[in-house]
Parts: sequence; C-alpha cells; structure tokens
Amino acid sequence: MSSETLNQFLKENLDDLKGKGLYNVIDTVEGSNGPMITIAGRELINLSSNNYLGLATDRRLIEACLEATKTYGVGAGAVRTINGTLDIHVKLEEKLAEFKHTEAAIAYQSGFNCNMAAISGVMDKHDVILSDELNHASIIDGCRLSKAKIIRYNHSDMEDLRSKAREAKESGLYNKIMIITDGVFSMDGDIAKLPEIVEIAEEFDLITYVDDAHGSGVLGNGAGTVKHFGLSDRVDFQIGTLSKAIGVVGGYVAGKKDLIDWLKVRSRPFLFSTAVTPGAVAACIEAIDILMNSSDLQNKLWENGDYLKKGLKELGFDIGESETPITPCIIGDEVKTQQFSKWLNKEGVYAKSIVFPTVPKGTGRVRNMPTAAHTKEMLDRALAIYEKVGKEMSII
Ligand code: PMP
Repeated sequence: MSSETLNQFLKENLDDLKGKGLYNVIDTVEGSNGPMITIAGRELINLSSNNYLGLATDRRLIEACLEATKTYGVGAGAVRTINGTLDIHVKLEEKLAEFKHTEAAIAYQSGFNCNMAAISGVMDKHDVILSDELNHASIIDGCRLSKAKIIRYNHSDMEDLRSKAREAKESGLYNKIMIITDGVFSMDGDIAKLPEIVEIAEEFDLITYVDDAHGSGVLGNGAGTVKHFGLSDRVDFQIGTLSKAIGVVGGYVAGKKDLIDWLKVRSRPFLFSTAVTPGAVAACIEAIDILMNSSDLQNKLWENGDYLKKGLKELGFDIGESETPITPCIIGDEVKTQQFSKWLNKEGVYAKSIVFPTVPKGTGRVRNMPTAAHTKEMLDRALAIYEKVGKEMSII
C-alpha cells in the first residue's frame, strides 16, 4: 500500500466513524485529575477517574516523587535487566509483596503491559486459557500474544466454567490450563466469585490468575479482592495496577518467588522496555505505606460510594448490582445514554457514557466513579444535577 492509498484508507475510515457518531473526541483536562476537573475552561464534578483514593494529587506522594527525582534523576536509564534496576525498584517490589501477602513481586511500566508480559511469559501454544467473557482488553491481548487456546466462559457463570475446565482437563490436549478473571469488573462494579473459581482450579489442578486493577486499594483492607476472600496463598498470579487506587503509574505481579524469578527472565516488557521513572516508583512506595498504615481513605471511598448509590437509587435510577463504589447508572438505549452524559456535562457533572460494544447492546450506562476525595457537598450537587437532567429526559 502506498502512502497515498494509506491516507485515503485512513480518511475514509475516520469519516465513516465520525458519520456514525462513533469517533471519540478526547477531552483535555486543564490541570490535575482530582474530584473536580477543568475541561474547556469549565469546572466539573469528576465522576470518571480511577483515582479512587485521591492519591494522584496527594501532597505526600508529590513530596516523595520530588525527593526521589532529586536523588535519582528523572529516568531509570536502562531496561531492568541491564542496569535500570535501581534500589528503589527493588524496594517497591518488596513492598508490593508485603502488601499482597506473597513471597515476591515484579513491577512493570503499566497494568496493560503487565498482563501482556505475565500471560505470554508463562503460557504458550500447548496451553489453554479459560477467560471470563468480560475480562479487560489487556487480558484479552495478553492471551492472544501467548498463542494459547482461549476459551471464554460466560460472565461469572461457575457452572459454565466448571464444565469447560473439566472438558479441557479430560481432553488431555494441553500442558497448562489457566483460569483468568478480573477481580472487580469495572463496567458493573461486581466482584469475581473467587472462592468458587479457586475451588474449581483446585479440583482440576489449574493455574489461577486474578487481575485486581479495580480491587486493590478498595477491598480486603486495601490489599485487594484475593485478600478480601482470604485466598492469598491459593491464587497463583495476583495482578495489580499502580495507576488506579495507588494514583501513579505501573503494574505488577505478586506471587511465589519462582514465578517472579521466571518472569524476570522471560517477560518481554521487563527485558526490553525501560524501567519506570524513580519519581513514580517513590510515589507508589509512599502510597502503599499509606494504605498499609491506615484504612481512612478506603473507608471514605466506601462511604462516598454508598452515599452516591443511595441517592441515585432514591431518585429512581437503575444502578445495577454493583458490589463496589463503582456506580453505573443504566439508561439502556445507546443514543439516549450518550445524550444523557452530554447533558450532565452541560450542567456540571463529568460522567462518561459507556455503550455497545464495550457493554452489551441495550445496556448503555453512565458510569460513576466516586472517590475518597469527593466531599458530600460535591456529591449532593451531582445528585441534584442527576435529578434535573433525569426528569427533563424522562428517565426518572
Ligand atoms: N486491567 C484492568 C482490569 C483494567 O481496568 C486496566 C485499566 N483500564 C488495566 C488492566 C490497565 O491498567 P493501566 O491503566 O495501569 O495500564
């Protein structure tokens, strides 16, 4: 394809997306991503960020980041396996293992590449992965990269998982069999049925992999979904991000020492991509220290989540079956959902719409992510705007 035909191809496809209203115009946030954000000069109540505990703008993390930057500089200077492993990276990994109650941990540059690294670092074409149908895109891509056979099971359907696990085991076709699930599903806020998943894994002798991007810092006294269910020594891979509740950037695997040692020699982003900046690492260490020493932020997050849920429910909105502070407001029709989100924005609430194909057809929703940093006054204002727009659009 010449560059002229490439340009033609791109233009036609972009025009097609724009014509169908599917081209996502990206908002630019002017300033920090806190409980209030400024977009196009307008200050809005922010209900769309993963900064669950408000740590992205916490003074203690900022100070730790500045201090480490003064000591180590702005960059790590190399990939981890050459000489980019600074003592501060090792400290973070030791801290993560302690936080997650595992023997060891390995840190990556993001949660996304952590899934690519960890799944393809262990699974190969002789293996099979049983994956919840609603797992995150980075899990799906990590599975594809591994070349293992992928079998999707119906969302949180333990009968379906059990029968697919039995079939895979009894076929005798595969070397390794792994079950992969999100810990908390971010579209609906529901929690994976980990006790049953672990039982099935133990019954058929399978590997377990839990991506707890949305559970860490939120459940299990901050340690996440696996700890919440008391399963710390029965799950093989505990994945987390350092970008959501921790408020910074990065991803990690926590597990047995041999697993982590293997990933250090076999997972490609660890071998071939430069290590995370020292400033970010120091901020992550500070955040984990805060979480291990106090539950105040988690308590505040849950209090705010419960408050918003109760308020929306009392107004007559359908808020689904969330078991965490993530609060969907289910509208149904795709176009109406997008209009609702835009109208909320006009009135002062930033809550993004999520529609097909990210969620099943007819289940369009505006997703709310309250955080520990929101005040009651902000949430009350958001609820008043929800009421006004909901009534004007005849949703409630
Ligand atoms: N896993 C899950 C379940 C996620 O929701 C996300 C972020 N959307 C990621 C992984 C990727 O994490 P990060 O943003 O740190 O790359």
